[in-house]
Amino acid sequence: MTRSLAAHCRDRLDAVRAADRFRRRRVIEGAHGPTIVADGQCCVNFCSNDYLGLAAEPALARRLADASNTVGTGSAASQLVTGHNAEHAALEAELADWVGRERALVFATGYAANVGVISALLGKGDHVVSDALNHASLIDGARLSGAAKHVYAHADAADAAARLAACDGGNRLLVTDSVFSMDGDTAPLADLANLAGAQGAWFAVDDAHGLGVFGPEGAGRVAEAGLGSDAAPLVLATLGKSVGAAGAFVAGDADVIEAILQTARSLIFSTAPPPALAAAAREGVSQARAGDDRRRHLMRLIARFRRGAEQLGLPVAASDSPIQPLVLGAESAALEASDGLLARGYLVGAIRPPTVAPGSSRLRITLTAGHDEQQVDGLLAALEAVLIDSTASAAMPAKRLA
Ligand code: PMP
Repeated sequence: MTRSLAAHCRDRLDAVRAADRFRRRRVIEGAHGPTIVADGQCCVNFCSNDYLGLAAEPALARRLADASNTVGTGSAASQLVTGHNAEHAALEAELADWVGRERALVFATGYAANVGVISALLGKGDHVVSDALNHASLIDGARLSGAAKHVYAHADAADAAARLAACDGGNRLLVTDSVFSMDGDTAPLADLANLAGAQGAWFAVDDAHGLGVFGPEGAGRVAEAGLGSDAAPLVLATLGKSVGAAGAFVAGDADVIEAILQTARSLIFSTAPPPALAAAAREGVSQARAGDDRRRHLMRLIARFRRGAEQLGLPVAASDSPIQPLVLGAESAALEASDGLLARGYLVGAIRPPTVAPGSSRLRITLTAGHDEQQVDGLLAALEAVLIDSTASAAMPAKRLA
């Protein structure tokens, strides 16, 4: 007999609590930015993916408001019915131009794009070869597709080549994040593109954390690596990070994109995103493309943070991106550090299993172009107080800031 739903859910909650994995959402009041009010406390925000500081940019908000006044709030239908507005069409053309592909197709979210694209292109008897640290949405897309999933060692092109070569029959897709969301490091994109090409496999890159930050005009890590559509035929990215809006897209050759439009269930069976949001995203794309000053400032802040953290002897990761994790190990260590930072006015997320592997819990620090030097220095001082001064007797080898 089926148990009562309430009893089932209580047991599930007990299990989450027993594993010390119960999470509470913070309530943010007001705008997103380098400082925010979270649960009533004003703090400096180092856990945002708003890499260029566009999420609360007045020009984007104006475009959203102006467009809502003319096109309303809802798109009222899926794209293939009546949900595809001229604002979406213009956004898609601008995105394709930005990343140098024939066509782009907008989805409501990056999650929906990744799940929809992979499950549209692959099926039973096919193969997905995937980096061990790929985003959950790529993993879920592979699962939904019914293709066999082969996981290669993180950022290890030789292992990817071997696993690709071992796939028997069917179509094969090699897929990777460009910048890994919890580690901040970068996939060997050129090597992966080469080996996929040499083996006649398809190659997809999720450039969610690279778009806007790297490459000419911020066109992403795929563009930075100089990979055209022959080398990287499927480029995916979200509009909810550096572009400062929401939504996502896949870009590629026209026939590839048309096939995805005709068959991706997460798009076909879902209401199109609000057209006014597409208008705001168009402004975000335009500002991101013209955002060299923001990118330069962000790169300077990344270098400043890394220098300071290294001087302190903190466990700095091999990352040149705005994602700068400090891997602390135990879940309790990450949680206590995050609490200590918040007590000092710095909001930094503690990332724990199942998001990362057991024993690799971490602080995930993200820098944005909205921050200034004083905020980065303040964070470093708070890290020193929390990770070094308060554990002076513990084993961490640490130096003080000169
Ligand atoms: N891919 C990666 C690498 C991500 O980090 C994320 C978001 N965290 C997504 C896809 C999903 O994008 P969205 O938030 O737009 O659903």
